[in-house]
This record gives sequence, C-alpha cells and structure tokens, in this order.
Amino acid sequence: MTGGLMTGRPWRRDADVAVVGSGAAGISVALTAAAAGLRVLVVTKDLVGGATPLAQGGLAAALGAGDTPWAHVSDTLIAGAGLSEPQVVQALADGAPGAIGWLTGLGARLETRDLRLEGGHSARRIVHSGDDATGAEAHRALLSALLASGIEILDRTVALDLLQNDMNEGIDRAGISTGARAVTGTAAANAAPAGAPARELIPARSVAGLAAGYIGADGRLAPGVISARAVVIAAGGLGQAFGTTSNPAGATGDGIAIAARAGAVIRDLEFVQFHPTVLWLPGASGQCPLITEALRGAGAVLRDLAGTPLMAGQDPRGDLAPRDIVAARMAAVIAAGDAGHVWLDATGLGRDLLENGFPTVTAACRKHGIDPVTTMIPVAPGAHYSCGGIRADLDGRTSLPGLYAAGEAASTGVQGANRLASNSVTEAIIAGRRTGAAIASALMSTHASDASLASTQASVLSESPNRGKIADRRELAQAMSRYAGVMRDADGLAELLRVIGIPGGIPGPAAGDVPGSNAPMSPIEAGKSANEPGRLELEDIEAANLRTVSLLIAAGARRRAESRGCHRRRDATETAARPWHTLARWDGRELVISEEEL
Ligand SMILES: Cc1cc2nc3c(=O)[nH]c(=O)nc-3n(C[C@H](O)[C@H](O)[C@H](O)COP(=O)(O)OP(=O)(O)OC[C@H]3O[C@@H](n4cnc5c(N)ncnc54)[C@H](O)[C@@H]3O)c2cc1C
Repeated sequence: MTGGLMTGRPWRRDADVAVVGSGAAGISVALTAAAAGLRVLVVTKDLVGGATPLAQGGLAAALGAGDTPWAHVSDTLIAGAGLSEPQVVQALADGAPGAIGWLTGLGARLETRDLRLEGGHSARRIVHSGDDATGAEAHRALLSALLASGIEILDRTVALDLLQNDMNEGIDRAGISTGARAVTGTAAANAAPAGAPARELIPARSVAGLAAGYIGADGRLAPGVISARAVVIAAGGLGQAFGTTSNPAGATGDGIAIAARAGAVIRDLEFVQFHPTVLWLPGASGQCPLITEALRGAGAVLRDLAGTPLMAGQDPRGDLAPRDIVAARMAAVIAAGDAGHVWLDATGLGRDLLENGFPTVTAACRKHGIDPVTTMIPVAPGAHYSCGGIRADLDGRTSLPGLYAAGEAASTGVQGANRLASNSVTEAIIAGRRTGAAIASALMSTHASDASLASTQASVLSESPNRGKIADRRELAQAMSRYAGVMRDADGLAELLRVIGIPGGIPGPAAGDVPGSNAPMSPIEAGKSANEPGRLELEDIEAANLRTVSLLIAAGARRRAESRGCHRRRDATETAARPWHTLARWDGRELVISEEEL
C-alpha cells in the first residue's frame, strides 16, 4: 500500500478500474471487480474513515419471521415520498438478505436473528452488531477482505477530477447519450427536421482516468494521474457543507462535485436528511457525535428548555415520528429560543442500559462532560445523509460513459425524497457489488482503449481559469444551515446563493439555467495556494467541492417550491400532486437545472 511518489513530476498509475472511496460501497465494488479478474485500484482520502464505520443502527433486511421483502419495499416507498423508484427499491429489498449473507461470509459478526425495530419500519428488520457499533464491525470485515485481496490501495490520496477523452457521440442537455455525433448551436438547429425543436447536443467524453493528489502531512498535495477504463465514485456524502453534521471530516461532497464538473447528471441534491439528535456543543462546527434514535426507541424523551415533552400532541408516533417531522419540530422550537438546542432526556433509562446498551453514545457524551445517566443531553438537528447524488442505476451506470457511482454519492432511486433508516449501508453493499459485476461484464467485452492521457492530463493539472475567491468554508457552512437547513424559504435561499457567489442570486422556479454559476465549478485553480502558484492544498480542494455541492443543493431547493420528504419549505408547505426529480448538469458553460417527471 502506498501513496503517490511525487518528486517534481506527476506520479502515474494504471488500472482497469479506479474506485474512489473505501467505505461499504467502494470496497464492495473493488472486491467484486477484482474477483472477476480486473485490475482494481482503490483511491481513498482515509482508508479507515468515511461514514460506514460510524453507522450505529444497522442494516435493513427482511430476515425476520413474518417479514417480507414486499413489506420492506412498502416502508421504503412511504419514506421516499413519491421519489423512490419501485423497481429499484424492489431490487434492494430482494437483495438485502443476500448482502447480509455476503457480509457475514466475509467474517462480519452480525446479529441476524434478534432483529431491531427502527422508525418507519413496519417489522423488526435491523441487523446490528455490538449494540451501536454495527458500521464498525461491517467495515472491519470489508477492510480485512480488501487488505487480504492484494488490490492496490492509494491511501491518503484525494481524487481531484476525472480525465476524459472526446467520443464520437453526443449527450443532450439532460445528460442522455444519443449515440450520434455531437453538434452544437446553429449546427444542431440546422440538423433538426423541419418543425421539430432543435436539441442541442454536447460532445460526449469517455472516462479515461483520474487526476489525484497524494496528501502530505501538511495537507499539501502531490498530484498524479491514474489511467483507468472505468472510474467508480463511491466517495460518500456531503454533510460538511452544513454547520453541524454527523458526518466525518472527509464528507465534503468531493465525488458529487467531481462528477458534476465532468458533466454528469446530478439528481435531487436538495434532499438532505437531518438527524434530529446530534450532540450540541457550544461553538462547535463540523462533525458532532450522533445520538442514535434507538435511545428514543428505548424511552428517552425530547424536551424543550422548560422541560416539556416536545413531541407531545405533534404526531401520533411521538418521539419516534419520522426524522423530518421530529427535526422540523425541533427546528421551530430552537428558532423560538436562543439556546441553539433542546434536550434529550435519557435519565429514565438507567445506568445499566446506558452504559451497556449504548456504550458509544454514553462515552461520546461523557467525553464532553455530559453524563446521560444523570443529566439531559443538549441536542440539535445536524446534516446526516444526502438522499440525492450522481444519477445512477443500481449497477452504477451514470450519464457519462465509463463513469460509475455507488453508495451515498449516488442517486439510484432507492432513497427518493427521504431515506428510510438503515437502508443506506445495505444499498451501498448491494449497489457496490452490482456495480463491480457490471463493470466486469462491460470491460471484459471491450478492448482496452489506446487513448492517450497526455492532453487531458495536461489540461486538468494546469488549467488556470480565474474563478474568483472561495467563500470562507465555515461562513458558507453556517449559511447553509441557516438557509438550506431543516426549514427553507425562497428569500433565504436567494440570500444563500449570494453567499455562495452567484451574482444577483438565481432565477426563479420557472427559469432553468443558472447564469454566472461557473464560479463554484472551479476545480484545480481553487486548490492552488495564492502565495505559491502551482501548489495544491487539500483544504482548498475540499472548500471548492463544498461550494459546488452547496450551489447544487441551494439551486435545487430554491427551484423546488413544495415540501416533500426531507425538503421543507415554510413558504410552500404543500406537496405537489405530481412528483418530479430535479436534474442538474454542468454543460461546460453554465449549470442547467431541469425537472424530470416520474
Ligand atoms: C454517524 C452516522 C451514523 C449512521 N448510521 C447508519 C445506520 O445505522 N445505518 C445505515 O444504513 N446508514 C447509516 N448512516 C449512513 C451510512 O453510514 C452511509 O450512508 C454509508 O456508510 C455510505 O457508504 P459509502 O461507501 O457510500 O461512503 P463512506 O462510507 O462515507 O465512504 C466514503 C469514502 O470515500 C472517501 N473519499 C471521499 N472523498 C474522496 C476523494 N476526493 N478522494 C478519495 N477518497 C475520497 C472517504 O475517505 C471514504 O473512504 C450513518 C451515517 C453516519 C454519519
């Protein structure tokens, strides 16, 4: 295992498949593709990091007596609020027991008989381990298998951008491949049959590899180039775009931003699930400990600052109402006060249950001087899960030839407008394995391309458009929480777009394109140090990616003038009768936002 070998010139690697990320999705892709005989290279910012090891609750699978995949489908569709795709959800539910079997076959010690119940599930179907350490155990088994496989790993290495070669076909502005030679502008209009609307085509580009940077101890990057016939984005979520989050430090939306810059279709990014109970600490920002909802399942109660139960009379399910309902109620109460939090009262659970049943949560609270046995826990909603992402099918195929996506970075049609608890690690494994198999079948039937990376390499690593200043990361994250958090409205989102740097805000819901939005798409230039041109820094690259995904979230949220799933607009509280997906696509000049009816 090694990082880059920068000695002044870009380092270089070759593989059939480059996988970005070493969470549940990335490792599942890598193991499956390698087992099919492909040369796989895993590129990861942090081999042992990501969200997967943090998963507390578990993995959903219809394994219990009396439970059925269909019931799992039904619960998932209800949570998805009209945007989950039934056939994709069916594939998830049908595949879940097999995914658990594969994981236990790799050595994961999971409880598959005494299943748990979680909010939104109509049956006990949560496979778990070590009470609240399920993700850690699943990741331990996956990582052991990866290390034993001999697959090459570039740890402490950040994917920067895709390398692409021009292809002899086009894609239209929604990102659909046409199979025809690309023509643009006037040529497209002239080529259209009389009376038919001209469809502008954009030259399609096939994926040829990745630009990446080895992360030095000081955060400085040593850039290199990976040549690959297929690239898989399995780079997880984007919680760090918000002021507080349950997500790890590396969840900066890199994979989604990379795909967006390359012109892939990004879908429904406005749907960000906020976990109601993230530990609130004075002045804290970024990653904060998650207080699992299983604590409320065991009897803990949310209370306002006066000690009154928060959810009483709000929803028949009380403290176990769906996350968006609980988070919205908490946000309203928090906004009406000035403490910035409410209380979670777990004192009634007793020492034994807290220490032995919830050791991770109890330890996290005690680390910050809060003993949940005797004291109420200050909590506030925090960004938790990105329901949207790179549009992909469950086999990982995106709108760009050669680019695949799986896990939280992808939007496959499972999560829709809101994620059902414990469906995401299950999805990451199922989609990851299917993606590895799909790539194997695609690459085994084609010959290796002899396309040279020389020209693309030069342009990606030396491109120097003047894209302007990166908004201060912390200031942007605070604005995201304020204006694109649990509750949103048009005025706040317009203000947010100004903070992001869109001159004059963004056109209203009827308009499609986002003029002037090329600024947040800046990749490499944004990562160069002002004092030392040519020097790349990880934190600047991440800040640029955060700005890109913030733009995509804000633009989608502004355009979606309705409330659905985890997207709540205080100025548009109804859910529209006909659901639609928000599609965002960078066409090389501007960000094109459109709607796709289901
Ligand atoms: C606290 C917490 C608790 C959760 N509990 C549950 C639960 O109980 N059940 C459930 O189903 N889901 C849960 N989730 C969600 C779930 O953990 C994630 O959705 C899932 O693990 C995502 O897997 P992934 O492989 O897509 O991404 P991750 O596991 O996040 O992995 C992403 C990988 O990409 C790498 N990476 C990122 N950017 C780059 C880059 N530019 N270059 C190279 N590498 C990069 C990271 O280092 C990491 O290895 C929880 C999430 C959190 C944060």
